[in-house]
Amino acid sequence: MLTFLMIGAHPDDMDLEASGLAMRMKEKGHRVVFLSATNGNAGHMSMGREELRTRRLKEMEKAASVFGLPYDTLDIDDGYLTADLPTREKLMRYIRTVKPDVIITHRSCDYHPDHRACGQLVCDCSYMVGVPLFCPDVPALRKAPVILFTEDRFTQPAPFRADIAVACDAFIERKIDGVLQHESQFFEWLAYDGNWTEVLNSKSHEEAEGILRSQLRRRFMGPAARFPDRFPTGTQFGEVFQIDEYGGEMTEEIRQAMEG
Ligand SMILES: [Zn+2]
Repeated sequence: MLTFLMIGAHPDDMDLEASGLAMRMKEKGHRVVFLSATNGNAGHMSMGREELRTRRLKEMEKAASVFGLPYDTLDIDDGYLTADLPTREKLMRYIRTVKPDVIITHRSCDYHPDHRACGQLVCDCSYMVGVPLFCPDVPALRKAPVILFTEDRFTQPAPFRADIAVACDAFIERKIDGVLQHESQFFEWLAYDGNWTEVLNSKSHEEAEGILRSQLRRRFMGPAARFPDRFPTGTQFGEVFQIDEYGGEMTEEIRQAMEG
């Protein structure tokens, strides 16, 4: 049995990019844990931080129950995640306690400062996870976890590389159901921030949900359309991951578990 730890900056990040993999791994009997570094309490146009924090943590729990997987947070304020030493120690203790074989996270070249910091923090833990005198209160891991990055569309300093491709057709409806539990994001903040007029002008929650469902469906078709050679023929919905060279070595066992 392998352990996968999905570390996103915000409560919906890994749901969007890796929940198909998460459900697939769970179905195969592996262990999966979601961790959001922040509590997501910045992205809203009318709610205050404390009220939003409570709401986003509830949404996170709802998404977790749709996926049937545990979801945790370091509860750092949204927008305030930095790759500093105290946060590295906090994350290190978390990683060593979960003992993952694979960590999934953001690349550190990304538009959002929290995403960049999150990717950087994971990379900063990649070697030190095995150094016993760093955070000596939690035993060092003897085996460095493989680190995989979720897909993004940025090209500096290098475009994303699809090293691992996971077909998720069987889980697509549940993936959309889970993502849409983050109501304050998709129905409110992202719609407002991105000026999704169709969603903003919809007359009912159901109508907005229908629009968001088609939008997410199109989005989740992206990886198989962009990297068709990496997927089994006929795959419509997939997720892709890039191997980080600082993490542990990708083994045939892990690749088989993910792609096979
Ligand atoms: Zn995010």
